Amino acid sequence: MSGFDVDLIVAGGGPVGLAAAIEARLAGLSVVVAEPRSGDIDKACGEGLMPGALPRLKRLGVDPSGMPLRGVSYRTRGRHADHRFTAASGEGRGVRRTELHAALHARAVELGVAFDETKVGPISQDAASVTAAGMRARWLFGCDGLHSTVRREIGVELPASRRGRRFGVRQHFAVAPWSDLIEVHWSGEVEAYVTPVAPDTVGIALLGRRGIDFARALAGIPELAFLLDAEPASTLRGAGPLRQRTSRRHRGRVLLVGDASGYVDAITGEGLRLGFAQAEAAVSAVAHGLPGGYEQDWMSITRDFRVLTSGLVAAARSPLRPAIVPLAAALPRVYGGVVERLAR
Ligand SMILES: Cc1cc2nc3c(=O)[nH]c(=O)nc-3n(C[C@H](O)[C@H](O)[C@H](O)COP(=O)(O)OP(=O)(O)OC[C@H]3O[C@@H](n4cnc5c(N)ncnc54)[C@H](O)[C@@H]3O)c2cc1C
Repeated sequence: MSGFDVDLIVAGGGPVGLAAAIEARLAGLSVVVAEPRSGDIDKACGEGLMPGALPRLKRLGVDPSGMPLRGVSYRTRGRHADHRFTAASGEGRGVRRTELHAALHARAVELGVAFDETKVGPISQDAASVTAAGMRARWLFGCDGLHSTVRREIGVELPASRRGRRFGVRQHFAVAPWSDLIEVHWSGEVEAYVTPVAPDTVGIALLGRRGIDFARALAGIPELAFLLDAEPASTLRGAGPLRQRTSRRHRGRVLLVGDASGYVDAITGEGLRLGFAQAEAAVSAVAHGLPGGYEQDWMSITRDFRVLTSGLVAAARSPLRPAIVPLAAALPRVYGGVVERLAR
């Protein structure tokens, strides 16, 4: 490895960065993960691993504990549309982010991934190498999330419209889960995701406009208002704006993976599944010395997410919003078909 400190620098040790680091070690590359935060990293997330995410994690040797998720239930005042995942899709799992992080981190350490508690800033590259955070490497993956520095450094960030920006907030409650379906409660103001993550804990993630008032929004959902009297099991955490756009996903020796590569919305709860699929594709591309091939893989991995998720967000922001749950209930085959596509 003459002249190089490492084959691959992974900027960002979130779940996608750790999955990419594991993939890269399994492909025989040496890896350093640059991540400024220490400990089991938490993040505002609905924490639902869609069925398609679990075999990907298993292939990496990662099997975090959590609660089975067997489908999706759209709900609004007295009406609901339930779809149970088919046997072909399998089960999903509700997993606390700290638990997911611990499981991925332990596997990365076991495989010899090195860690550097640092933030990646300026990046320079030439035809043969990329330099960042004081290291020279063959490749760099930007896995640094929604507000990616790497994306800006390589000049592929596109300005996002300020109109209709959406944000997320989440909190956990010490309550026994009451369903094995991911419940999505549609109020006039927010979508509230209920995900069981432990036998005594549920997570509530709300998506909506900037400045969501968590307590007020919960109070506005009759089926969930009882949680206001339950014991919180975590502090409130937020994220956003969710929509992030990129003109391309690689430049030279730098590839963008996970939320850093562009994100539509959390409304379909599949950021992790997509991020793990992107990590696999990115490692395969650099292992073959063909980083440009990643662009096409990224497009095909994210196609449904870009099309269906954008469509659902547009409907959620339109006068159609109150009709979404009744329509899902009236058209179970269409609703089930969409859930299945996004689950895999
Ligand atoms: C409210 C909400 C609900 C969601 N619900 C779901 C769900 O139910 N299911 C699902 O699959 N997805 C869900 N998502 C999406 C999911 O959370 C993301 O897709 C996922 O976290 C992406 O992982 P990541 O590793 O790409 O980014 P992140 O998890 O954001 O990790 C990025 C890491 O990079 C680090 N970092 C930042 N800057 C730098 C830098 N300059 N140098 C080095 N490191 C840096 C950060 O510290 C962080 O650890 C939800 C998102 C939100 C906001």
